[in-house]
Amino acid sequence: MILVSAMTIVWSVVILAGLGLIFGLGLAIAAKVFHVEVDTRIEDIAAILPQANCGACGFPGCNGFAEAIVNGKADNLSQCKPGSKSGKPEAIRKYLDEHPNPDGSINPIKVK
Ligand code: SF4
Repeated sequence: MILVSAMTIVWSVVILAGLGLIFGLGLAIAAKVFHVEVDTRIEDIAAILPQANCGACGFPGCNGFAEAIVNGKADNLSQCKPGSKSGKPEAIRKYLDEHPNPDGSINPIKVK
């Protein structure tokens, strides 16, 4: 009776370990297959912006404006009215000059 219970425990551990290994491998493969390359400049520019998330720039919050800047969809850096009063456009322009696009070109967006 005790031997049967011990075997049940051993098999339970083996089965759970096997399932853990299978699910772990599945997650590792999914992470590789669905990996999305993120441009870190979007986060950096969003950190420079005021984070008021007021939408005055015409984009959905500061992260949306940062993404538009990096992707060339914003007209100029002065679209952020709260940031324009505190020199944010100039700071972002300097950041973009120091951090070129992946192809080596410089983002041409102007302050105004
Ligand atoms: S206007 Fe400036 S502070 Fe307001 S959401 Fe746009 S980037 Fe953020």
